[in-house]
Amino acid sequence: MDAEIIAVGSELLTPQHIDTNSLHLTEKLNNLGILVRFKTIVGDSTDDLAGVFRAALGRSPLIILTGGLGPTDDDLTRDVVAKVLERPLHEIGELRQRIQQRYARLGRPMPQNNLRQAQVPEGAEWLENRNGTAPGIWIEHKDNIIILLPGPPRELEPLFESTCVPRLERLGSGGRIKTRVYKIVGLPESEVDQLIAPLYRPFTNPTTTILASLGSIEIHLRARAATDREVETRLAELGDKIELALGDHVYSTKGESLEEVVGMYLVMRQRTIAVAESCTGGLLAERLTRISGSSTYFLGGAVCYTNEMKIRWAGVPAELIQIHGAVSQSVAQALAEGVRSRAGSSIGLGITGIAGPTGGTQEKPVGLVFIALADERGTQVREFHFPGDRDRVRYWATQMALEMVRRRIRD
Ligand code: ATP
Ligand code: MG
Repeated sequence: MDAEIIAVGSELLTPQHIDTNSLHLTEKLNNLGILVRFKTIVGDSTDDLAGVFRAALGRSPLIILTGGLGPTDDDLTRDVVAKVLERPLHEIGELRQRIQQRYARLGRPMPQNNLRQAQVPEGAEWLENRNGTAPGIWIEHKDNIIILLPGPPRELEPLFESTCVPRLERLGSGGRIKTRVYKIVGLPESEVDQLIAPLYRPFTNPTTTILASLGSIEIHLRARAATDREVETRLAELGDKIELALGDHVYSTKGESLEEVVGMYLVMRQRTIAVAESCTGGLLAERLTRISGSSTYFLGGAVCYTNEMKIRWAGVPAELIQIHGAVSQSVAQALAEGVRSRAGSSIGLGITGIAGPTGGTQEKPVGLVFIALADERGTQVREFHFPGDRDRVRYWATQMALEMVRRRIRD
């Protein structure tokens, strides 16, 4: 049984609000083996909603509408669904009483329009909402199942879990859907695809999607099967081949971020780290400390933005800056070694570069970044030329610094 989600609400069409209900519902439906084939966001307009709903009736066995069940005039979902299905609305005595009791308890007069929430289309069942006044509505209509849910996530989520999940389970949708995600750093998207396309092409289950996000490439495998075990087998069949082909470019198979993976390695190897950052302005320290428990390995960081601070805080020799410039291999090395010895950490990282958009020259263009890693085996310095704007250059610099640490301590 495939599903379609319709999120109703004009606010969801503005730049300020995003439809998170459909993400939550998709996850829950996938766990039940139900695939979401279509998602629509539609404003509070009778005609627009009726059009979208009619289209859904023709193509999706399970249709879930969220939002627009409240008492106000712009809450149209109940009315529109009743009209399209040609099922008149009837007031349910029990719902009316509940709404009246709620207001009595609060000691407030009840606005008359609240009683709209006591109405359900003929032949429909209502679903108890313990966290609000608008109940959910379950309608079986010809070959369609239609579910109406309140918009506020704190009402929708428990309501869906307690009333819809058991019903959908009983209907036996057939199986499970699971996704496995491989994250890769250090290879361009085209190269990743070239390596793995011959592997995934013969497979239709799992399906394969390659997504480029800032600083990494993600490969998503999605499989569908009758049981958990069979889904896992299918994912492993293709996944293991992909993992082998990409080798150590894969840094994560369970959704972990690069800073999380690096943190795990540092804990495992009982190593500590300190950073001296110029062009990234503390972003690397921020990413490392995002991970709970990072205090066991992250000793601290210095944002050495000016030459003066590079000298004072990381002990960079002034002559090095004079001779090579602040953005240079030697200064990156001195930052890493200086912060390592001052912090007493096993690893020291130094980053210096030109994030742009101003400050670039012919020899030292925007995007040029030197990253150094110092440890007991010596110091490694790499030169990078990152494309993109200031934010991208800075993020990429932290990404490659983390990647250098991952590679260094993994072996
Ligand atoms: P209410 O009784 O509160 O009016 P309702 O069912 O009429 O409930 P809406 O009026 O459409 O729901 O939305 C109420 C609030 O719920 C919105 O302001 C928004 O914060 C949240 N909301 C609605 N739809 C979504 C959605 N798809 N994703 C996330 N939040 C949503
Ligand atoms: Mg509303």
